Amino acid sequence: MVTATAKPKRKPATRKPAAAAPAPSSATNAALLARREAAVARGVASAAPIFADRAENAELWDVEGRRYIDFAGGIAVLNTGHRHPAVVAAAKAQEDRFTHTSFQVVPYEPYIALAERLNALAPGDAPKKTLLVTTGAEAVENAVKIARTATGRPGVIAFNSSYHGRTLLTLGLTGKITPYKKDAGPFPPDIFRAPMPDTRAGITVDDALRALETLFLTDAQPDRIAAIIIEPVQGEGGYIPVPFEMLRALRAICDRHGILLIADEIQSGFGRTGAWFAIEHSGVVPDLITVAKSMAGGYPLAGVIGRADVMDAIAPGGLGGTYGGNPVACAAALAAIDALEGEGLLARSTAMGEMQRARLAEIGARTAPYRMWDIRGLGAMLAVEFVTDFDTAQPDAALTKSVIAHALKRGLILLGCGMHGNALRIMVPLTASDALIEEGLAILEAALADAIATEGHTA
Ligand code: PMP
Repeated sequence: MVTATAKPKRKPATRKPAAAAPAPSSATNAALLARREAAVARGVASAAPIFADRAENAELWDVEGRRYIDFAGGIAVLNTGHRHPAVVAAAKAQEDRFTHTSFQVVPYEPYIALAERLNALAPGDAPKKTLLVTTGAEAVENAVKIARTATGRPGVIAFNSSYHGRTLLTLGLTGKITPYKKDAGPFPPDIFRAPMPDTRAGITVDDALRALETLFLTDAQPDRIAAIIIEPVQGEGGYIPVPFEMLRALRAICDRHGILLIADEIQSGFGRTGAWFAIEHSGVVPDLITVAKSMAGGYPLAGVIGRADVMDAIAPGGLGGTYGGNPVACAAALAAIDALEGEGLLARSTAMGEMQRARLAEIGARTAPYRMWDIRGLGAMLAVEFVTDFDTAQPDAALTKSVIAHALKRGLILLGCGMHGNALRIMVPLTASDALIEEGLAILEAALADAIATEGHTA
């Protein structure tokens, strides 16, 4: 049964569409799939072979009018849900004034207001400044560029199973070949890789730190390293929280060698883990933070928040882009941040995480004893792994894929993750009701039973 979880402090303004739902599309999923296959590059994969027609909070309807519960949230973008009324209203109000001037031509207040807000939210007492861009990868690219300019050093250290984006520099940082990096090299030089602590692989924090010290002796001259970049909870890599002692040790290593610490909070930020930024749980203050996704409630917006002295290392004209800090996206972000704060969604995330963790454990024990293991995460940033059996614990990507497919058939959108494709992550909006989450988890349980029952069948 569902245990009572923290209710939002203030009820969301309304979770009903402002106007009557538009008439359903006349297209079918099959027809759109055929058109998609003919027209869209196949490298852009989609997890679900359905096409969105409309969505509201944690629910989505496809073009054939079928309802789905959305546990993917557009890949962790929708902590405030689809079409949060305040976010939509703020975006519409901005659209009625102007939609684009380019901040580099004629600047505007929403960019400044958002920068002020982010500077105040970021941990640490040092004065902060913010750069706004459009995508997460662009934020990471800029964080590295700022760190290089500020330190006058070229090197960057990133970790195994990390994900930082699909552009060429960020692919160099990303620690997983298939599907992201396959055949796409060479990648930029002066990027070094260190192991992540991983209890399942028997890599302790001490092991990981020893490997880093070895890297400093063998390949990565410490006074030529500009930055260490880390996701405080690895996202695409499998929702693996970095042990706090590791983050603290990295802070000390950075201080010792004059290296900047970049926290990539693109997936873990804005309430997902029960804090504004996941790194806050460890007490570590990074020099730079990359942000995107749930910051703007569904609009394309990303940024770098950092120590003012570091951020100002690049001279005027060195940062930016035509669309960076789009005014509609900034207005949406200010409203999304207000909603996260005003509706108590950080506390809600912690409570939701506890409830989901307990339910996942029940589902695993009841439906798939010895096949589900390592329910892990921080706050409501949770994942679970599927294995072939408890003793050998071999990753079972086929079972995971099957659970996702059966869940979709039953009306639940799920996404996998992890180095071996055998983890399921839950990114349901923090504004979803307990009842809806329970409905989704019940579908997950049924889908897991379906997947086990049909295991080994080819149909
Ligand atoms: N860093 C992290 C931690 C991410 O999770 C992602 C996206 N999944 C990115 C960077 C890249 O963001 P984008 O897809 O917006 O380029």
